[in-house]
Amino acid sequence: MKGIFKIILSLVIIALLIIIGALIWTNYFAEPEMPNLKQEMVEYKKINNYEEETESYLIKSSKIDADDFINLSVNSFVDEKIVEFKKDNSSQSKILPRDKAVFKNVIDTFIVNENIVSVKVTIMQKGIEKENYDTQIQTYNFYLKDKVNISLDYLFNAGYKEKIKDIYTDKYLLKNNSIEFYNNTQKNNCTYNILKEYGKNKIITAKNYDISQEEYDKLFSRVVDPSRKMVAITLDDGPHGSNTQKILDILDAHSARATFFMLGQNVVNNEGVVKDVYSRGNEIGIHTWSHPQLTNLSESSIKSQIEQTSDAIYNVTGYRPTLVRPPYGSFNKVVKDTLKDYSLILWNIDSLDWKSRDENQIVPLVMNDIQDGDIILLHDIHSTTVPAVDKIVSELDKQGYQMVTVSELIEAKGYNRETTQVFYSGRQ
Ligand code: ZN
Repeated sequence: MKGIFKIILSLVIIALLIIIGALIWTNYFAEPEMPNLKQEMVEYKKINNYEEETESYLIKSSKIDADDFINLSVNSFVDEKIVEFKKDNSSQSKILPRDKAVFKNVIDTFIVNENIVSVKVTIMQKGIEKENYDTQIQTYNFYLKDKVNISLDYLFNAGYKEKIKDIYTDKYLLKNNSIEFYNNTQKNNCTYNILKEYGKNKIITAKNYDISQEEYDKLFSRVVDPSRKMVAITLDDGPHGSNTQKILDILDAHSARATFFMLGQNVVNNEGVVKDVYSRGNEIGIHTWSHPQLTNLSESSIKSQIEQTSDAIYNVTGYRPTLVRPPYGSFNKVVKDTLKDYSLILWNIDSLDWKSRDENQIVPLVMNDIQDGDIILLHDIHSTTVPAVDKIVSELDKQGYQMVTVSELIEAKGYNRETTQVFYSGRQ
């Protein structure tokens, strides 16, 4: 009796697990549901001597309360086009129907999220006695809270960070760091495209947005000012599935960059995190494959520890690291000679985060005598390091430090990596 009960219980548990799994699966992988706006044709306009198919546009939706604003914008655009069309074809008097000028417009709408409604207006015009239609597409992405059509100018005005949080949704975040808003008919017809780096200075112009390289650089490129004080934060032994991600967000919130010395064995299975570290402007260095003390290894083992890790990082990011942090900070002449193509990066501020696992000890150890040019050692595999990084980064920001990558530090401090191989700080 007991045996049967156990079997039944196990079956029930297995069934439940399958159901939960299926629910998670469908939630995760299902196409997002796209609520369609109700479009109502309120008027069919007829213009003498012209053939016109145009709908006045009316959005009615319980989901949004900016209907009038959207309708007004779209309709006034269409009306403008009709005026132009009539002017262009004004010589027309009485002609055969087949020679008539034709004006058509089609309007597609799409709710991107609760804050964004995307509208695509397609206008097709055929002049008198013309064979083919000219097609013109106008797209809008209405930001409902502010009742505006989103433009770059608008985005980059004060408060854009708040706005972009509304605009950003996972469903529309593509892997190449762009956000595309679709309309409901054509996926490839994105109406607005924002390359993003999610953080400060992070929303970048769309490729298809008309902006010059010069303007682009002025707005978005990262500049390290050598005349201002700076430090390099380094994070070892990761990447870690969740800690690293949290640290990236902290860095972004302060326009900070850091250098992540990764273990090859942790790069495997954390490819998404590695990609994110890199695409968000941080530097990736090599911390070996499996954390051995390099001074105990043969030349060929040293090489394979480094090269395997380099390959793993390269396969994910397309980037070849140039920095190595030897485990335990331990190196000798053999290590240096074997790794002569790399810079060896040590540190001069040790947070001892692996030991204390306590932000109340980590933060003062780092901050107490911090100076321009310091290299700080932390470890992103420990969850206790995350709140410490938050405090350290906020404090450094407050004190006016630029938080730069190790390569940025070396360059800004004017070192030549051909002649200097080992770095403890940016003021040695
Ligand atoms: Zn380590």
